[in-house]
Amino acid sequence: MQAEPRRLRITPAHWAQMAAHAAAESPNEACGLLAGAEGASVQIFPITNELKSPTHYSMAPGEQLQAFMQMEQRGLQLLAIYHSHPAGPPTPSRTDLAEARYPGVVHLIWAPSEAGWGCRGFLLDGGIKEIEVELDDKAVS
Ligand SMILES: [Zn+2]
Repeated sequence: MQAEPRRLRITPAHWAQMAAHAAAESPNEACGLLAGAEGASVQIFPITNELKSPTHYSMAPGEQLQAFMQMEQRGLQLLAIYHSHPAGPPTPSRTDLAEARYPGVVHLIWAPSEAGWGCRGFLLDGGIKEIEVELDDKAVS
């Protein structure tokens, strides 16, 4: 099991890519995976939400498998799972907590605000713990 992360670093390009994905799928939830190394994002994998729902998501299994295979080929770790709450709130739902599967993996929740789409990161290993999400221009992209 990987060490529990205290923060997650995301490149501005990856941030923009996830925000655009969340906006494009709204009012339905968008979802995807963020892979990287040493706590910094390297690649985003947008995944189809099979449920096409404004309140739930389920990642298309084939796309998810492809993403995991690419991560393995590139020597990347799964750092975060992202999804959106188009109608808010920007915090994990009971379902998010109940369905959390990957210990040590950050759950990024995207939600719209007056300033546009933004995200917050949480660890859901038995409880909700917010971690720092920072934009990093120097991260590998
Ligand atoms: Zn959720």
